[in-house]
Amino acid sequence: MSALVRSPSARNNSFMDFFRYRDRTLHCEDVPIALLAERYGTPLYVYSQATLLHHLQQIQSAFAAVEPIICYSIKTNANLHIARLMAKHGAGFDVTSGGELYRALQAGGTGPNIVFAGVGKTDAELNYGLETGVFLFNVESEGELLALGEVARRLGKIAPVALRVNPDLPPKTHHKTDTSVKGVKFGLDIDTVLEFAGKVVDHPAVRIVGLHMHLGSPILSVEPYRQGVEKGLALIEKLRAQGHKIAYLNMGGGWGIHYRKQEALPASAFAQVIVPGVKKANCKLVLEPGRFIVGNAGLLVSRVIYVKDSGGKHFVIQDAAMNDLIRPTLYDSFHRIWPVAPAAGFAAPPEDYEADIAGAVRCDVVGPVCESGDYLAKERRLPPLERGDLLATFSAGAYGMAMASNYNSRLRAAEVMVDGSQHRLIRRRETYEDLVRPEVEV
Ligand SMILES: *Cc1c(COP(=O)(O)O)cnc(C)c1O
Repeated sequence: MSALVRSPSARNNSFMDFFRYRDRTLHCEDVPIALLAERYGTPLYVYSQATLLHHLQQIQSAFAAVEPIICYSIKTNANLHIARLMAKHGAGFDVTSGGELYRALQAGGTGPNIVFAGVGKTDAELNYGLETGVFLFNVESEGELLALGEVARRLGKIAPVALRVNPDLPPKTHHKTDTSVKGVKFGLDIDTVLEFAGKVVDHPAVRIVGLHMHLGSPILSVEPYRQGVEKGLALIEKLRAQGHKIAYLNMGGGWGIHYRKQEALPASAFAQVIVPGVKKANCKLVLEPGRFIVGNAGLLVSRVIYVKDSGGKHFVIQDAAMNDLIRPTLYDSFHRIWPVAPAAGFAAPPEDYEADIAGAVRCDVVGPVCESGDYLAKERRLPPLERGDLLATFSAGAYGMAMASNYNSRLRAAEVMVDGSQHRLIRRRETYEDLVRPEVEV
């Protein structure tokens, strides 16, 4: 790996990407974060356009040899402006619900570049997908394939399908986000998929043309992909022997990013294990990256409301909460946190939080929500903080705003896109009226 990271063509990302401390104050590209907090308020999601495009381009160039179909996983961050940027720069979409399909179409996606995943697609969603002409349905059960066939027959269409298999690999990430171990709900059982596939070779309304797997997320090793491709190749051969014309191999998403250290692999490392397999299979490659593109392209800016000591602990109470970023609560996730303008003696956030940080104060960074599980970090060493200070929670672009809710009747945050020295609102902060509108309008 080290050789790979050192070679400039395969250079890994920094966790800071286009976020930088200049004169001890955090900037997104050329815009001071403090200026954005003043202008748009907090909590605030800030995205760097240069980082988004840089990450997409890294995938495009790492896999250029096989001209992959890159379908941005819109569930990762569904903001229309981010999705439009992806579409404009050559990405299609991976959608997991009718709502996401709607968003993908609003963002400039078209049927031929959309893949439709999801373990529980309803007839209405299958219908919507067929009417749209999505390029592949990633089918996850026998029941779904038969339902899809039924809906397609009624519409007089033939549904293009990739079988999503669960390749039964060893555990590789948090148990709530590992999707390719035995016993999770995802995919068709690799041990029985052939038996089923053999029965639907001549289905009049369904055409099995691909194999799909999404292994879990975030994954910090190429090994699961190597094993997945290997199992996929064997399966493709057998599906072809049954008479299925397999033309697509979809290796999903799941590539990790730098949350805690410089722990993530570059796109080129995944290409090294995936590309040869795709060539061998003589298939077109589909990828569904999400976190890798948008994770480190966004941060959550919050303001300290109070600090207090209680029960032997030091609490930093700030205005972002679990309803804004639920990953620490839901997955025990680690996000770098650092003051936007750290006190003298502290520069940028440390690369490694396990190392000692001189002068730091150990604290729990919590939000205002009425839950003990409402925290962004526990037992974290940070520079001393005071009421009014701004904090940045890094690597929050993926599964941040996408999972935000109105719990405690909190207003969902605003989102801002920065491009060089320009910045613009891409989602306004919600209002109290927004909170009750669907109830008032009944
Ligand atoms: C969530 C998901 C992805 C994206 O995963 P990332 O880890 O964000 O890259 C891709 N494909 C499917 C089917 C998914 O459910």
